[in-house]
Amino acid sequence: MKHFILFGPPGAGKGTQAAKLVEKYNFLHLSTGDLLRSEIKKGTELGKAAKELIDKGFLVPDEIVEGMIKDQFIKNPDVKGFLLDGFPRTVVQAEHLDDMLKELGEDVTGVISIMIPDGMVKERIRHRAQIEGRADDTSDEIIENRIQTYHAKTEPLISYYKKAGKYKEIDGIGTIEDIFGKICKVI
Ligand code: ADP
Repeated sequence: MKHFILFGPPGAGKGTQAAKLVEKYNFLHLSTGDLLRSEIKKGTELGKAAKELIDKGFLVPDEIVEGMIKDQFIKNPDVKGFLLDGFPRTVVQAEHLDDMLKELGEDVTGVISIMIPDGMVKERIRHRAQIEGRADDTSDEIIENRIQTYHAKTEPLISYYKKAGKYKEIDGIGTIEDIFGKICKVI
């Protein structure tokens, strides 16, 4: 079974590319952001706790997202592969993902990183705010927090996966089709 990780700063286009990749390769798309937003919508205790943090631009605790991902692995034993989007986001999450997959006799196939500069992150998120209306996309302060969180907590994953020989970076500037083509080549 394949386990690809879509990596990149907020607004890099992971969700957009994931939708196209799912159509082409029949992978199951697991977006921790989408899973959390669905908990918020349902009004669960988990959703309420997560919303407080998400709306400030902070990460939710590792155990919460790890539990959600493990659930999905267990519920979907027969899929061709998984496309992880927004997970892992910390080195601890990456280590725990390795453990989870090891238990299942699997491992991370590769990490596809879509890279854009910070200036473009802000531009893309402002644009998305007008379309999707996500609370965490609306204020410059929250967006700035998410960029800081990305650099401090998530960027260290680059060297984690480079060391494992699993990291491939592509330039996230270009048309949706161009970037999709580059990702397909990597896959
Ligand atoms: P974006 O692609 O803009 O970063 P996401 O939908 O991936 O947005 O995530 C939205 C928010 O959900 C994050 O800012 C964070 O608060 C929370 N979140 C998502 N994935 C994780 C994760 N793996 N660990 C901790 N928090 C997460």
